[in-house]
Amino acid sequence: MSRAYGWTDKGDAVVEDEATVIRMMATWLLEGGSLRGLTEHLKSEGIATAGDKTWQTVTIKRALTNPRMIGKKKSGDKLVDAEIPPILQTRTYNRLCKLLLDPERAKFTGGRTQVALLGGGIARCGGCGRALYSSASTGRAAVYTCSTRSGECPATVSVQAELLDADVTERVLARLSSPKLRAALTKSINQLGSRDEAEARIEDLQARYTALGEDFADGLIERETMRAGTDKVRANIAAIELKMKQQEVLDDLPEPTPSAIVEWWEQAGPRQRHDVVSILLDHVTVKPTDRRGPGGLDDERIEYVWKK
Ligand SMILES: [Zn+2]
Repeated sequence: MSRAYGWTDKGDAVVEDEATVIRMMATWLLEGGSLRGLTEHLKSEGIATAGDKTWQTVTIKRALTNPRMIGKKKSGDKLVDAEIPPILQTRTYNRLCKLLLDPERAKFTGGRTQVALLGGGIARCGGCGRALYSSASTGRAAVYTCSTRSGECPATVSVQAELLDADVTERVLARLSSPKLRAALTKSINQLGSRDEAEARIEDLQARYTALGEDFADGLIERETMRAGTDKVRANIAAIELKMKQQEVLDDLPEPTPSAIVEWWEQAGPRQRHDVVSILLDHVTVKPTDRRGPGGLDDERIEYVWKK
């Protein structure tokens, strides 16, 4: 039998370099990267299987969902101790199994990568201001690209997804780790009062919104007056909802120290990560570059707009 990637021939010790690759694969997939993209990445890095073959989506899937990843083996329906050192944490392994054995996933293993970190228009094109979306084509790493059809955006910005995600992550974690910023955030949330009070205010605002429409319909106010009023009410509701969301996300977070925050982030799922980014970051604009291809990132290319 051939050697299992990640362990020595006898299976009694971990091959550290390979274990690192396995953990990278796990992170890649759990953060929303596609299997297809991962095979391309491994190929471009010159990383082969234990049998010196090219990694295929099916071999990755089989390797990562094998219980040996957590030092166990199958015995009937149960998992028993296999007396080999584990490479993945049980929690990570369980999440991988859930993800990779989910039949729905087949939809997402094509060319387009699901990147949760900057979904929802958080990353914007510096040329036209529209959202950047994530795509991966064969043989290349995932990129964020302007969503405007070619010809309609003066720049058609694109940037390597991995680089932008890393930069955003670093800045978001730095903010979350700062006791000063955390205190300021908590203070601004507390101004809102209790959850019940916040909900009551939203209800009141919604009633005003309706009243503005009725007043316009009854000819009591002009269209511009109604517009200005409804815009303001909408903005006020959005501001309260943001604070409520911030409160909800902060409740889940550990104390603001770098180690606690990093540890939390590493075990967080794509949804949680996206939530954390979205309560802090309004958007990040990526400006065009003169260089060819998606290219790298330097501070001059990115502009962060944080939420207040
Ligand atoms: Zn654009």
